[in-house]
Amino acid sequence: MKVLFATSEAHPLAKTGGLADVSGALPAALRDLGVDARVLMPGYPAALEKADDLTRILRIRLPEHGEIGLLQGRFPGDGAPVYFIEHAGYYARKGLYQDAAAHDWPDNAMRFGLLSQFAAWLAGPGSPLDFKPDVLHCNDWQTGLAPAYLRYEAARPTPTVFTVHNLAYQGIFPPDVLKPLGLPPESFSIDGVEYYGNISFLKAGLYYASRLTTVSPSYAGEIQTEACGMGLHGLLAARSQELTGILNGIDLREWDPAHDPHLPAPYSADKLDGKLANKRALQDELGLGPDAHAPLLGMVSRLTQQKGSDVVVEAVPQLIELGAQFTVLGSGEIELENAWSRLAAAHPGRIAVKIGYDEGLAHRIEAGADIFLMPSRFEPCGLNQMYSQRYGTPPVVHRVGGLADTVTHASPENLASGAATGFVIDRLDRASLVDAVHRAMALYRQPRAWEKLMRSAMARDFGWAGRAQQYLDVYEKIRT
Ligand code: ADP
Repeated sequence: MKVLFATSEAHPLAKTGGLADVSGALPAALRDLGVDARVLMPGYPAALEKADDLTRILRIRLPEHGEIGLLQGRFPGDGAPVYFIEHAGYYARKGLYQDAAAHDWPDNAMRFGLLSQFAAWLAGPGSPLDFKPDVLHCNDWQTGLAPAYLRYEAARPTPTVFTVHNLAYQGIFPPDVLKPLGLPPESFSIDGVEYYGNISFLKAGLYYASRLTTVSPSYAGEIQTEACGMGLHGLLAARSQELTGILNGIDLREWDPAHDPHLPAPYSADKLDGKLANKRALQDELGLGPDAHAPLLGMVSRLTQQKGSDVVVEAVPQLIELGAQFTVLGSGEIELENAWSRLAAAHPGRIAVKIGYDEGLAHRIEAGADIFLMPSRFEPCGLNQMYSQRYGTPPVVHRVGGLADTVTHASPENLASGAATGFVIDRLDRASLVDAVHRAMALYRQPRAWEKLMRSAMARDFGWAGRAQQYLDVYEKIRT
């Protein structure tokens, strides 16, 4: 089985969120199963710098895009092969999708149209490569046009899988980009790329791909409803027989508290004492009071409405009054960033806010916090709640999407049976959140019960192996 995996970001080469984690880990897990999985992504200069064994394999000129190079390399450390599209005008910028002021780049249609076009070309019959994929696996709107290109350019299109990592980002552009993107006029139809008079890359993927997947079983069901389908529930429901929810895994080597180079002290379920050393070091690093008994609540997240960050802002003053300390690492909507900064200024030593992106600190918060907060409004899968369980930091989550699928609520029965791994709220509002965290803090103050909860969380298997097999099953179904 040969699979070309097209993506706009892949850890550790380029990352803004969970898509990168999946794109870094899933191809490697597929390779462990014997699949020849290779990645295609934009050649952002920072990504090229990190790749190993880089060679240029061709140069071409396309009238609408100009000069383009194709490079081949590997993920660092002898990882999966990766093809990079080199285009200085498109990809040599600081932000992947947006400028520093969080405005989308105005030429995103062309930047990711080119990625889609290359994915279709390299997976299709006209590919210049020796590598002939059985399946093209596309991810999110940035690669959504690839199945459309294949449909119009190849008599027998290579089968495609389109994975929705987040339905909220749809890649919507005015209809006049159809021509420069090289799509035929007939594709601009409700049975095609058109979406209420515009072009939607995401809808194109959902419409043209042979199979659809999304990143958790619950989210697969939710997006077929009007409430969560973001205008696409009709199409998704019509294709429900071809839509599968496959939970994301996590990279167990990268996220392992016993061997994590970002942590000051290693620990494991058998040797939990190191966790307290991580808490002390984190309090010190963030300027929080050196209080070993205050439950330290942590959050690592894009600061957006999706992540429920606004509800946490409302709840935090009450949680501080109940004796907690709080830290958040993230960036996003400017009003939320400001609200967090104001809270930190009002509660020095008790609330620490880091606006920005910091891989190492993300690991140290997962390890040093006692309780992790992730009350997303909607959550396709979510990774941080899995990292936090693996790090013995039980999460408080909202019962949606992948959060519902990966956290077992600490009800009395689940606590007694040892199944509980965190706290799950059914409604997302300040009162429910305060109540759940309050209960978590009460349990935290019973060390034996809390250790049992930590150990159950740490024992959960979030590895990729089983999940990669589920993707392979989907590929096998469509392979011609
Ligand atoms: P999403 O993809 O919706 O942002 P996920 O939970 O699926 O959310 O994945 C987020 C990923 O990005 C995780 O690996 C998380 O640790 C990381 N992350 C998010 N914000 C930051 C940040 N400010 N600094 C470091 N890592 C971050």
